[in-house]
Amino acid sequence: MNAAHPRMRPTHAGWIEVIAGGMFSGKSEELIRRLRRAAIARQTVQAFKPAIDDRYEADAIVSHDERRVPSTPVADVAALRRALAPDTQVIGIDEAQFLGPELVPLAVELAKQGKRVIIAGLDMDYRGEPFEPIPQLMAVAEEVTKTHAVCLVCGAPASHSQRIAAGDGRVLVGAGEAYEPRCRDCFEQPVPAPAEAEP
Ligand code: ZN
Repeated sequence: MNAAHPRMRPTHAGWIEVIAGGMFSGKSEELIRRLRRAAIARQTVQAFKPAIDDRYEADAIVSHDERRVPSTPVADVAALRRALAPDTQVIGIDEAQFLGPELVPLAVELAKQGKRVIIAGLDMDYRGEPFEPIPQLMAVAEEVTKTHAVCLVCGAPASHSQRIAAGDGRVLVGAGEAYEPRCRDCFEQPVPAPAEAEP
């Protein structure tokens, strides 16, 4: 069998899927749905999330509606790479915005190995700015799904995460009550704190 022949192309060719959206938009629910379907199809599945995300529990991806799949907490991309089993066919990664730019080459490498890589994460931070590495992952992905919440001001589909409590950092981890979903029109871009302001 000549694997290089076009007609002999493996049916389970690797690819990258990105599920991107604001907070409360159902990213984890969609990731869990896809991972469960893969498991039902008897594919070997591994799920990961950053160890920083301890909202619910360390060893599961949990959606706001309390669905869950077992997952391995990883401190960084190197730890994720070490935790990967060679025979895993489907890899799910939640809250990928916390894993940094090294996730992009790893996702490409895994897809080239024939694996299906499903990545969920915030596409914008609380300022409405692209939240790397999600934009870069969206660029190299075969399939991108944008999830939307409901704007709490006007009821339109919401793509932004409005910070409604003070805090440091681009995201207050585990502080969902500090944000609410807003549409583009209702989103109010935060005024930079003095430390963040341009000189
Ligand atoms: Zn609105």
